[in-house]
Formats: sequence, structure tokens, C-alpha cells
Amino acid sequence: MSKNWRPATQLVHGGTTRSQHGETSEAIFLTQGFVYETSEAAEARFKGETDGFIYARYGSPTNDMFEKRMCMLEGAEDARATASGMAAVSAAILCQLKAGDHIVAARALFGSCRWVVETLAPKYGIECTLVDGRDLSNWEKAIQKNTKVFFLESPTNPTLEVIDIAGVAKLANQIGAKVVVDNVFATPLFQKPLELGAHIVVYSATKHIDGQGRCLGGVVLSDKEWINEHLHDYFRHTGPAMSPFNAWTLLKGIETLPLRVRQQTETARRVADFLAEQPQVAKVIYPGRKDHPQADIIAKQMTGGSTLVAFELKGGKDAAFALQNALEIVRISNNLGDSKSLITHPATTTHKNLTDEAREELGISAGTVRFSAGIEDSDDVVEDFARALRAVKA
Ligand SMILES: *Cc1c(COP(=O)(O)O)cnc(C)c1O
Repeated sequence: MSKNWRPATQLVHGGTTRSQHGETSEAIFLTQGFVYETSEAAEARFKGETDGFIYARYGSPTNDMFEKRMCMLEGAEDARATASGMAAVSAAILCQLKAGDHIVAARALFGSCRWVVETLAPKYGIECTLVDGRDLSNWEKAIQKNTKVFFLESPTNPTLEVIDIAGVAKLANQIGAKVVVDNVFATPLFQKPLELGAHIVVYSATKHIDGQGRCLGGVVLSDKEWINEHLHDYFRHTGPAMSPFNAWTLLKGIETLPLRVRQQTETARRVADFLAEQPQVAKVIYPGRKDHPQADIIAKQMTGGSTLVAFELKGGKDAAFALQNALEIVRISNNLGDSKSLITHPATTTHKNLTDEAREELGISAGTVRFSAGIEDSDDVVEDFARALRAVKA
């Protein structure tokens, strides 16, 4: 397979293997095991002398196609598909750490990711320092002798802050630590963390990769050495494997990723520009706009804007609820990256478990709303906002 294919081509053909029937669409291999012609063949397979699958907890044909296609897109040597995004994040973090190690993580993290580093890891003797990741000097100040992992997402959920991935990777390399990037919000199309110096990339495939709200999935990508040394045995023995059915769903989803993300980004940009002009709106944060507070870093590390928009209504919670309730096309949901346009009020949903102080640190106010653009006609979505905003006092 050609490494020189452009992403849209990789996403249709990458990693495909066909059975003896030569099927056009990828086959689903819903099998947990595999048979061997002879005892000798089984012995050779277990010794690793011959290629082939042994047990679906650690490898199967449909999952293999999905992993190979993701590797091609990401420019990674190897990958493991997991049952959910959180299975990918927790595996990537825990497989490489032991009691006495230390993580530095950006405090602006997807809620469950924050729980893994802030609450779960310390139970096993792994220390964690959370920092405001926007300022590189905070990462540097948090480094300890036992720092082994840097963890971040960029852009962040829900306020679309951006972290200088190359800058963080440089600091990590000085102390031999690994950088894990949760690249969900950027999508694999708009940001390549491995090229920026990160060592491990994780996705919730539940979001743009499926893109149609059908199933959960995740993936961890890195170089062969790291996967062999850290993830391989962890994955094999703890069992966070993806179902082959979901691997197939995601293989079909990912074929249309560039088409969907292009349409979603166009709608998000138009909604951001529209909202920025409205009297009810205090501020709009959109990575594709020149007024994004970190536009310089975005220009350096991202090749596209975003399918998401964060904005703040002057009228606080009442205004946010009134807007959400008046929208007709845009549905209220905490999912994102879906073909349907979705909107959520983080303070009362995804981020309700944080303290008021922690929410304030993250820039989440009572009026903050997060919009995830779908693939509807952009005109209809902008008109939906225009109409719904009439229910909101300026
Ligand atoms: C959704 C999400 C996750 C978790 O993924 P699941 O598939 O829901 O387990 C992790 N990180 C980010 C940034 C997400 O948006």
C-alpha cells in the first residue's frame, strides 16, 4: 500500500485485506478464535514464528484493518483499537507507569480523562500535577525527578484552548518523558501530534471517526518499540479490546471522515462568525478565527479550524437554556463530531462535577455553550441559530 496516498484515499483503501471472496466492502470477522491446520502450526503461531491471529482479545482481522488504516492516516507505526475512547486513554497512561512515577497533565481535560490522572492514578501511587497548559513555563515548573508522562488535549473541551504540542514535546524529550496527546477535538485531519514530537496519540473514535453516533471506540497509536514494550502485554492481559462489529462500523465511518469534517468545519466557521456579531453573545472562541487568543500556535500546529465552537452568552444560564430550548435543528446532546448538529451547556452537564473554582479556571461560566457542527446544510443551521437567538434577551 502506498504511503504517499493523500488522506482521503488512505481512508477508503488503507489497511484493507480481502478474503477469498474478494468482497468490495470490508468483511466483519465476528469470531473470538482461530483454528490451526496442525499441532505444529499452533505451536509455531504461539512461538511467533508464523504470522496470524490467535485470540480476538488481542488481535482479529477486522480490527487489524481499522488499526492499519488509522496508522496510515496518523503516520504511526502501530496501534491498538479499544472498546472506547476512555479505554484508550487509560491504557495509554497506565500501561507505561508504576507506583512512584509522576504525570504532568493540562488541567483542561475531558472529564473522565481528568478523573484517570487526578483520582485513579494516585490510588496506585502515581502522582499527578495539573497545570494551565497554555503557558509552557507551567509544564517546566511542574517537572520532577520522577516525571514520566505529559498528558494533554488540544484544542481542549469545551473552551477550545490550545496547547503548544511541539513546545511540550521539547521539554519532555529533555527529561526522557513521553507525551500523550488526546487528539479528538483536532481530528486526525487537522493536527498530527507525532509529527509535532508527541510520542503517543489517542482517540475516542466515538466522535468524528464514527461520526454518526452509532458506537463507542478508541485507538492508541505510537511507534512499534513503545507498543511492544508497554502497551502490548497490558492490552493482551487486561482486555480493553474493541468488538469486531464496532471496528467494521468505524472502518465504514472513517471512509467519509474528510467529507464530513469539511462540511462540519464550514458550518462551525459560519456559526462562529454569525454569533460573534450578535448582541446576546459576549464572546466566541473558534480555532479558525483570527481573534482566537492563541491564533499563533494554531497557525503553527493545525491545518484546519474546528468542527466545534465555544461561546458565551451575556445572560448566563437562563440565556443558554433559552437558546438551546429554542433551537430546532441543533439538538441538545453532550456528544460531538456527529453528523447531527449538537449543543451542550457544560456547567450543568459534562462539567457539573467540577468545583466552581475549577470551572472558573477552565473558563467555563454559566453562559458558556459548546456547539458541535453536523453535516446539515450550513444555511439551515445558521438560520436555526438566528431564529433561536430571538428567544434570548440582549
Ligand atoms: C469523548 C472523549 C473521550 C472519551 O471517549 P469515549 O469514547 O466516550 O470513551 C476522551 N477524550 C475526549 C477529548 C473526548 O471528547
